[in-house]
Amino acid sequence: MKKKEIELKYNKLIILLKKYNKYYYEKSNPLVTDKEYDELKKNILSLEKKNIFLNSKDSPSKVVGFKPSKNFKKALHRAPMLSLSNAFSENDLLNFEKKILNFLNKKNSFELSYSAEPKIDGISASLTYKNGKLEKGLSRGDGKEGEDITANLLTISDIPQEIPFNDFPEEIDIRGEIFIKNTDFELLKDKFANPRNAASGSLRQKNPEDTKKIPLKFIAYTFGFEKGLNVDNQFEFLKKLDQWGFKTNPLNKLISGIKNLIKNYEQIEKKRANLDFDIDGIVYKINDFVLQKRLGYVANAPRWAVAHKFSSDKAISEILDIDIQIGRTGALTPVAKIKPVNIGGVLVSNATLHNEDEIKRKDIRVGDTVTVERAGDVIPHILSVDISKRPKKSIKFLFPDKCPSCGSKTVKEFNSITKKNDAVRRCSSEGYYCDKISVEKLKHFVSKEAFNIDGFGKKIVESFWELNLIKFPQDIFNLDYDKIEKLEGWGTLSVENLKYSINDKKKISLEKFIYSLGIRHIGLENAKLIARYFGSFLKFQEVSKTKKYKDLLNIDGIGETQVSSIKNFFSNQLNIKVLDELGKILLIKNVVERQKKGLLQNKSFLVTGKLNGISRAEVKSLIEENSGITVSTVSKKLNFLIIGEKPTKRKVESAKELKIKIISQDEFLKMLNKTS
Ligand code: NAD
Repeated sequence: MKKKEIELKYNKLIILLKKYNKYYYEKSNPLVTDKEYDELKKNILSLEKKNIFLNSKDSPSKVVGFKPSKNFKKALHRAPMLSLSNAFSENDLLNFEKKILNFLNKKNSFELSYSAEPKIDGISASLTYKNGKLEKGLSRGDGKEGEDITANLLTISDIPQEIPFNDFPEEIDIRGEIFIKNTDFELLKDKFANPRNAASGSLRQKNPEDTKKIPLKFIAYTFGFEKGLNVDNQFEFLKKLDQWGFKTNPLNKLISGIKNLIKNYEQIEKKRANLDFDIDGIVYKINDFVLQKRLGYVANAPRWAVAHKFSSDKAISEILDIDIQIGRTGALTPVAKIKPVNIGGVLVSNATLHNEDEIKRKDIRVGDTVTVERAGDVIPHILSVDISKRPKKSIKFLFPDKCPSCGSKTVKEFNSITKKNDAVRRCSSEGYYCDKISVEKLKHFVSKEAFNIDGFGKKIVESFWELNLIKFPQDIFNLDYDKIEKLEGWGTLSVENLKYSINDKKKISLEKFIYSLGIRHIGLENAKLIARYFGSFLKFQEVSKTKKYKDLLNIDGIGETQVSSIKNFFSNQLNIKVLDELGKILLIKNVVERQKKGLLQNKSFLVTGKLNGISRAEVKSLIEENSGITVSTVSKKLNFLIIGEKPTKRKVESAKELKIKIISQDEFLKMLNKTS
């Protein structure tokens, strides 16, 4: 790549990083996960390393956080508030220690002591105390200048406003982390991706009364500017903080030797899901203040500290329960409810267990300590079970043989293609007889690709279901609007809007209508084919009486599986009733007839035997494109039997008997002015 191109690429990445910073730090609403952010940062740093001419002032190696928001008064920090460099492995830590020893010109045998402090994932604040009284509180901002959030900080009960101790320095900035407990986050999880964003969003409210509503916590761990501090090392300072009335982290430890740091890291990683605050790693600080001073700082972080981060796609947690979810088609999906744990910036509390076989294969049980993985966009899942941590009284998980919603038997269907039982177990009840299936069917009915009713999402379906306002799709068009208007969160205007959106969708195409019924194996494409075949709602509905399901096999693209599913659908009286009712309410548009004047108009065909260089599917589609039809049996209705290699004898004989024209592949193609 040329210099110009590299610069262009680099600048683009920097702009993207700035955008992510703005959303994360200023709006408390990240656009990407921490993992994605960290990858971008890594890419920028590696570009800089390879090309020394790249040195934006906004490089992540230089900046801290984000400039203070205009919503607050700004104030300068008397000592900068920095970020921390990261380590992800034992090797990173060995390098960190080596660099320090080199810098201090010490031998490898020199023993360094570290204050190992779990890194709470919140946001930092600096509290200025003068003569034992809290004077001012600032956010970190861009490290040099913070936001004056004193009024908001005063609402936090963990922050002492007066410190009546003689050994408390005359002047000091006490620094620590503002955070929210995981249990409190549960109440805010719809608004924020993780507890850190919730704490940051709540702390930086314009109105302190709004901050007060959220139970924010504060733990102290360091200081900035100071006058009169009489302490030699970090661990002693932490003890002092405790004596002065600040909360400190009970898991802080004094440790020497990288091996011991790793041991502590592993122990804490296992405890992580049991803590009521979110940690994303462990901070190691050189304990001795004299050494800290000698080591000093790089551009945006102290040289004497490092954050040993937890993996951004795996974490250890515990299974609290195994929930069985029931889908629209009756499939039972087991989901592990786990102790919430932060994986790469997302608080994970559910992990899929896929199906019964997966649980059996891994012998996953309630109470198990497990490793959960959340990599890329994949749904979090259980990677492995730590059998050594299994409680003594643990029992094997028995997959329910009855549907947890309606009590019907659960079954594993036989798959005629694989000649095996399906891995998925299903509720044997049909559709609307099972409450859970019913709700899921309604969600599908209103979904984007089906009726797409504006403002009628999954949550509304659930709440209207609970309130007995809807049970079947037709109920959506007969809602009790007076009752809805009186519900919390609803008013005249919103009810009018809902009414409008619902009425607006009473006119629908046949294909969307068929899709919205949620018949198993009938997705958008198949619904389109079926709609084309029937042409009108009445004809579609009639199939329940004519029972000509086999004829559907003539539709190019529809196979036995789909036909048997449609047959199942129509053999259910509730479905027939739903169709009747919807037919009365809706205007289901006929399929606009396609060009009927093709070369094969009014001619029917059947293929038997192997064709040469052309598939049966292609022949079928050629016939249909040219206004002909394909049928599946030899009858009087058949005009042409196309024979390939090794045709079915019986078919050929019947065709002869009925005096049906028998043609070869070439003759057929000639009818279309084509050759093979
Ligand atoms: P950092 O959070 O990795 O480390 C510095 C911070 O650690 C300090 O400011 C302090 O708040 C905290 N801390 C907790 N316990 C501490 C202790 N005992 N001693 C000292 N500090 C302690 O660094 P950062 O620069 O604040 O932020 C980078 C992090 O933010 C990365 O994890 C990154 O992924 C994330 N981020 C994400 C996005 C996004 O869009 N998802 C955007 C920006 C940043």
